[in-house]
Amino acid sequence: MILIDSHAHLDSPEYDRDRPAMLGRARRAGVEIIINPGVDLASSHKAIELSAQEKGIYAAVGVHPHDAAKLDTEASAELRRLANQPRVVAIGEIGLDFYRNLAPCGKQREAFERQLALAAELRLPVIIHQRAAQDDMMAMLRSWVAGARTTPTGYHPSGVLHCFSGDMAMAEEAIDLGFYLGIGGPVTFTLRCASGTGKNARSLPAIVRKAPLERLLLETDSPYLAPHPHRGKRNEPAYLALIVQSVALLQDKTPEEVAAATTANGQSFFNLADGVVK
Ligand SMILES: [Zn+2]
Ligand SMILES: [Zn+2]
Repeated sequence: MILIDSHAHLDSPEYDRDRPAMLGRARRAGVEIIINPGVDLASSHKAIELSAQEKGIYAAVGVHPHDAAKLDTEASAELRRLANQPRVVAIGEIGLDFYRNLAPCGKQREAFERQLALAAELRLPVIIHQRAAQDDMMAMLRSWVAGARTTPTGYHPSGVLHCFSGDMAMAEEAIDLGFYLGIGGPVTFTLRCASGTGKNARSLPAIVRKAPLERLLLETDSPYLAPHPHRGKRNEPAYLALIVQSVALLQDKTPEEVAAATTANGQSFFNLADGVVK
């Protein structure tokens, strides 16, 4: 079973003490490819450095909505320079987070729009973070896709809604627009408490059950969101197999089928050369 962890913050200081051991556990668990998204310029730099040092690691560069206010003209120029580095396979993570609201909404929209435009210009996919901003998010994605499709370059704008937390309508529209759903640790919590009272506790399994397998990407979002039975502890890519199990149950497929399909999805989404792990 070869797996792709489409979202893990390997550059996080939480791994400074044992990063090689953590990456060894990932490989032994079959996680041969890991995408490390940046959340600001410093972590984007670190993601690129790691990707150059370790086989199977690729970088995404971007400024998270929490840091949107920092994306001034100078930072944008630096981001563009980083995005042109080899082994950068996406722009992310970028998006809108009106739940924590660590940056003013207007700044978040501006930074998101600027980075969507950069992705289209460089013909890269985007890794999207969304919380409590579903309507604004979909409106911005709709217009980005419409705009990018009219360019004569033949670019197909695409993105992954990482750690998908929207409702069924959002999932359906995202899939129609050509987007992927990123499924992580929370899918393992909801299965264990099917009678859960939260909205997500009921809707995420239903969404994963109904979504076409060819539009799912798997992720850990390490070091956050550890799957059951590690919930609340530090997460790591080796735990991706637990997410495969839950998705397999919901999709009524074998774990091997889910692994093969989502690995193929990741390879085409991130445009990784013919399945060769470099
Ligand atoms: Zn996120
Ligand atoms: Zn993340």
